[in-house]
Amino acid sequence: MRKQIVAGNWKMNKNVQESTQLASEIVAEVKDLNLDNTRVIVTPTFVNISEVVKVAKGSAVEVAAQNMHQAKSGAFTGEISAEMLTSLGLKTVILGHSERREYFGETDAILAEKVDAALANGLEVIFCFGEVLEDRKAGNHFSVVESQIKNALFHLPADAWKNIVLAYEPVWAIGTGETASPEQAQEMHAFIRKIVTDKYNTEVAGDVSILYGGSVNPGNAKEIFSKEDVDGGLIGGAALKAESFIALVNSF
Ligand code: PEP
Repeated sequence: MRKQIVAGNWKMNKNVQESTQLASEIVAEVKDLNLDNTRVIVTPTFVNISEVVKVAKGSAVEVAAQNMHQAKSGAFTGEISAEMLTSLGLKTVILGHSERREYFGETDAILAEKVDAALANGLEVIFCFGEVLEDRKAGNHFSVVESQIKNALFHLPADAWKNIVLAYEPVWAIGTGETASPEQAQEMHAFIRKIVTDKYNTEVAGDVSILYGGSVNPGNAKEIFSKEDVDGGLIGGAALKAESFIALVNSF
């Protein structure tokens, strides 16, 4: 059975003291929750991962990374490998965030390599994708999303999908305060589950968690998360405060 997930993307925010403080607050709140089928994930920036891992140790809060390089090791100044993440005890990495695509030139082909490197190292991938506003206005959002998923993930064998989480993040809704309506989210998530069914089978499609991301906040989360094919959220702004992040976890 697929899991519900609330994952906080801290992006390039919070120094080490602020990161450990936020993690401590989340750990304290999560302790009293009956999480059952829900996973809670936080993703500090690389330099703060070790300290946050220490804070989260023994709790239900999982720590993940926001990105990684596709190469095993070598002359890639400033980059981080999959093995470096697993050596810290991490189990999950976000790949394909729209900010990585837009500002750092990450193409579908690069992302396919990153996905392969992550999976080869035993990491689970939260794979992000989503259309820009022009695509939605032109009615191309389904074909854009289909090609993003196809190009980076459809070379994988069916059994690799147990380590894939999908995150539909319409770019026009990220950090803008504009959210896809619950109906728009459900429509896209159902479409995604259908293309995964068509490519693989109902079991793979039924087991994959599909998160929605884009200005989710405590005021709109309940309705979005209640949709049949929405299995949680990838959260930016509202993940930077324990109170709002925990409110999102409680929205299930
Ligand atoms: C994100 O960056 O993944 C995101 C969804 O951000 P926000 O919640 O701030 O829109």
